[in-house]
Amino acid sequence: MRPARALIDLQALRHNYQLARELTGAKALAVIKADAYGHGAVRCALALEQQADGFAVACIEEALELRAAGIKPPVLLLEGFFEASELQLIAQHDLWCVVHSLWQLEAIEQAHLSKPITVWLKLDSGMHRVGLHAKDYQAAYQRLLASGKVARIVLMSHFARADELDSDASNEQLAVFQAARQGLSAEVSLRNSPAVLGWPNMPSDWVRPGLMLYGATPFEVPQAEAARLQPVMTVQSRVISVRELPTGEPVGYGAKFISPRPTRVGVVAMGYADGYPRQAPNGTPVLVAGKRTQLIGRVSMDMLCIDLTDVPEAGLGSPVELWGKNVLASEVAMHAGNIPYQIFCNLKRVPLDYSGD
Ligand SMILES: *Cc1c(COP(=O)(O)O)cnc(C)c1O
Repeated sequence: MRPARALIDLQALRHNYQLARELTGAKALAVIKADAYGHGAVRCALALEQQADGFAVACIEEALELRAAGIKPPVLLLEGFFEASELQLIAQHDLWCVVHSLWQLEAIEQAHLSKPITVWLKLDSGMHRVGLHAKDYQAAYQRLLASGKVARIVLMSHFARADELDSDASNEQLAVFQAARQGLSAEVSLRNSPAVLGWPNMPSDWVRPGLMLYGATPFEVPQAEAARLQPVMTVQSRVISVRELPTGEPVGYGAKFISPRPTRVGVVAMGYADGYPRQAPNGTPVLVAGKRTQLIGRVSMDMLCIDLTDVPEAGLGSPVELWGKNVLASEVAMHAGNIPYQIFCNLKRVPLDYSGD
């Protein structure tokens, strides 16, 4: 069998969820959209079900998958519904629903619902992607209340630059949010992972950690709270071939690596079809037989090459960690000009092995 695997440590997932709560003293929706950032939404939700205040996903398809697996806590649809016809299912399955646009508000007013729903009313406080304009916010709140279709409203917004610890943008967004919600006595939700970790004074009754649950830092610089995270996913494989090259020989497609010295090359069963970033250059860190070494040559679809010259104990069959507890996904991302979010989401073909339930 091909030795490529992704080990998912559910104990680490629970640790990271607890950290989000501990840092904020808030209730936390575990964001498990996009199949829990590649970690498997149902398994992650089951692992967190006993402790989680709720979950958040991108769309009703993802929410119904959780309900079908018997997962009972609240599930928030982060983009609400895409068509008004979803509202019946939202009420029926007790899903919580973001309202980010006036057309959604109108659809709720006109819907015939079996029971009132919970709405998270989203303000555009400066990201300018989705969310109601500040001038419409109070009126939208009153219309939801008056509609009789809504049991509970949470006020929310989303930060565009919370990962930039030296930027004023998040405080500016907070000021816009506070002005828009003046006089509304409802619960508030603002913070994603970088705001949970890096912005201790942001108000939030509810936080919405995603990336940090999986143990990766959203910051490009070292940060004390992020250092307390435990990586959840370890992508590993094995060396399937070894060769010795003299100085001056190319390795891989396009000869992007030329041996600068006599070089021992290990070939690893892992490629871009597994989600390993093809853009990762020579020098991207890799762990083999417990020691750090580097990627050499272009990543191909099913294989990549690493330098074994300084790891003489490594050879055919040696275990390789592409990212995980030793080589962080954020390091691989940084080398590849990517972000850990996409490194995780891109994972495919590799079987997931769970531990720690
Ligand atoms: C994805 C998402 C989150 C989680 O963001 P992270 O940076 O992964 O913590 C929070 N809120 C909203 C609205 C999102 O879409």
